[in-house]
Amino acid sequence: MNILILGSGGREHTFAHKFSQSKHCSKLFVAPGNAGTAKIATNVSLNVNDFGAVRDLVLRESIEMVIVGPEDPLVAGIQNFFAEDERLKEVAVIGPSMRGALLEGSKERAKEFMALYNIPTAAYESFTKESLDAGKAFLETLRAPYVLKADGLAAGKGVLILQDLEEAKKELENMLTHDKFGKAGATVVIEEFLDGIELSVFVLTDGKNYITLPTAKDYKRIGEGDTGLNTGGMGAISPVPFADETFMSKVESRIIKPTVEGLNKENIDYKGFVFIGLIKVGDEPFVIEYNVRMGDPETEVVLPRIESDLVEVFQKLSAGKLDEVELKISDKAAATVMLVSGGYPEAYEKGKEISGLEKVADSLVFHAGTAEKDGKIVTNGGRVLAITSFGDTYKQALKKSYQNAENLHFDKMYFRKDLGFDLA
Ligand code: ATP
Repeated sequence: MNILILGSGGREHTFAHKFSQSKHCSKLFVAPGNAGTAKIATNVSLNVNDFGAVRDLVLRESIEMVIVGPEDPLVAGIQNFFAEDERLKEVAVIGPSMRGALLEGSKERAKEFMALYNIPTAAYESFTKESLDAGKAFLETLRAPYVLKADGLAAGKGVLILQDLEEAKKELENMLTHDKFGKAGATVVIEEFLDGIELSVFVLTDGKNYITLPTAKDYKRIGEGDTGLNTGGMGAISPVPFADETFMSKVESRIIKPTVEGLNKENIDYKGFVFIGLIKVGDEPFVIEYNVRMGDPETEVVLPRIESDLVEVFQKLSAGKLDEVELKISDKAAATVMLVSGGYPEAYEKGKEISGLEKVADSLVFHAGTAEKDGKIVTNGGRVLAITSFGDTYKQALKKSYQNAENLHFDKMYFRKDLGFDLA
């Protein structure tokens, strides 16, 4: 079958890499893609939020399966757009309907959902402009640090964690009355701070059945020792060593099961990924957030560990027969190291030539922000390349990725050299 992947990052290159190995994949398209996906698929330049353009491409190329990489088109209803068009309703869209995507699109909705199904999460209340004073009063009842979250999508920047009560009140006011995060901050969730170690759990669900995918841990901060600004992610490892069987059985019974049961109970059309951001406090799991798509860079370590044919898995998913799937997972560990442009996540330059790609050995290189220019591969974003390796342990896997990072070069290239530092 012909398959389309929407998106342009390392996540989408990893999906393309998996599909290109499937005997069921005839023509593979990535829109808009990057220089890496161009080597194994046909890139099509379009805006993933322009559903009309996506529809035209799907009809023109007889595409039967669409994998939606980023959250924006899901929250904006791309699944519903397909379901409502006679010509498109047979197309398997891997991603939830708009109602399902609200678990990521509205933090207030996610908290209400968790409260309804008794899923462990930080205590919270939400506020709007009209209840600003109540919000300030609520902050006074909490202890520092204070966690303020813009309700809507804010490109990963809508969460503020503040030490000072007065500053927290000021920021609440900035969000609610001065549009600090635009419409996304018209409602603010204030929640209890949870102190622990974070990890990600990925679940594939058809809305009724589910499969738990390998766990992963990503490293969000730009600086070593988890310091400095937040980024899209500087690297990841899978599996997570501290997510042992006892812990994961708590995650399954208290979080995964009730989440899928909740979706089912509410009759939500959900055929896609649930990415559960967790925090382990003592020995107990709590949900920090839901996302409705795979994570990036977690995809770069989770998918390569899946040995099953992913197209077959998605066909079952789309048919609501996930119960028939038995996923084969490699027992090797995987690690990915993200090479980024100097200056990222603030201002950085693009168009720098990347050299050394041919020297990479025993690792997979997934392109993120890259483009082809005059026959050369150049940087085209903050996060540029993800180097994924396997090993008996995450340390061995990381070592290989770091060795290969030394072979690669572009002007002002930077990467974190301490991934896994908090696991030793
Ligand atoms: P992203 O898109 O970067 O994953 P987001 O903007 O959707 O994030 P969250 O994941 O909810 O927002 O929060 C961002 C980060 O803030 C979390 O990864 C976590 O480190 C921290 N955080 C959020 N809520 C809490 C909490 N209640 N206690 C402690 N830390 C928290």
